[in-house]
Amino acid sequence: MATIRLAVIGLGKIARDQHLPAIAGDEGFVLAATVSPDNAGVTGVPHFASLDNLFAAGPAIDAVALCTPPQVRFDLARAALDRGLHVLLEKPPGATLGEVAALVAAAEASGSSLFTAWHSRYAAGVEPARAWLAARRIDRVRIVWREDVRVWHPGQDWIWQPGGLGVFDPGINALSIVTRILPRPLLLQDALLSFPANRAAPIAAELTLQDTAGTPVVMDLDFRQTGPQSWDIVVETDSGTLTLSSGGAVLALPGQSRHDADREYPALYRHFAELIAAGRSDVDVAPLRLVADAFLCGRRVEVAPFVD
Ligand code: NAP
Repeated sequence: MATIRLAVIGLGKIARDQHLPAIAGDEGFVLAATVSPDNAGVTGVPHFASLDNLFAAGPAIDAVALCTPPQVRFDLARAALDRGLHVLLEKPPGATLGEVAALVAAAEASGSSLFTAWHSRYAAGVEPARAWLAARRIDRVRIVWREDVRVWHPGQDWIWQPGGLGVFDPGINALSIVTRILPRPLLLQDALLSFPANRAAPIAAELTLQDTAGTPVVMDLDFRQTGPQSWDIVVETDSGTLTLSSGGAVLALPGQSRHDADREYPALYRHFAELIAAGRSDVDVAPLRLVADAFLCGRRVEVAPFVD
């Protein structure tokens, strides 16, 4: 298969920490260009302040990886798909569910591959957890996703704006894992969303869910965690307790524990290359739909202002 000429759009934290190393380590891709409005780019790679500038004056590309905040992603994705480019969407795949549906239609129309890249699903413990749970009765699930927003999202104002999701920006990673490892769809029962008085997105949330067989699932999200951070999913079954911790990297089963090397983004790019080769898309909105349902039905309380 020919090497895929890729442009990375949005050269922020996740692009530099994860996307660029994963692309450099995958022979199926070459980093052909970067786009970011206020950025120096990467040495030796053509850089543009906007996607329009890249289209007007840049090198030929086959695909884009959209690593911007979600609020600006739709227009970029639409422009790329309309040119017949393949598109990888960082999570969350859009600011609304309607946007993602429109992108699916655009990808079908242009024959391009569209990939909603839920990176946490590629954490080492996720597929073994899914396989182990498939053969068991699940009694209850508890998700605790508590992190210090000042450590992980310093100065990221977009996260507090409409469409930025607030504490659901990391919380949607937990939802991407549970919607993968649990055998049945989840439905929202109740949500309590804590909005800082000066912000348009929640700083904490408590969710009560059920799967379609009535299995209870509770979720505790908080951006105000200091000290040890928690990214844990605990599943009680008829054969004992499964614990996925460190965001899915560490899996503990009755009598055994495993922690394999982090391959999230390399695995994600391998899958993107396979989708392009096969002429397929991979689109799943289940995690975003649960977040949308929490915003739709959740009770809101005002809490202390948040100052970065
Ligand atoms: P970030 O550090 O704020 O970076 C976002 C970048 O997008 C900025 O560098 C900005 O460019 C660029 N940008 C904004 N508008 C643009 C536009 N119209 N065209 C091109 N580039 C534009 O945010 P981040 O943490 O990398 O997060 C980005 C996305 O990745 C989010 O959806 C987030 O949920 C997801 N994600 C983040 C992490 C993480 O650990 N941070 C992990 C996984 C996924 P300039 O710098 O040039 O202004």
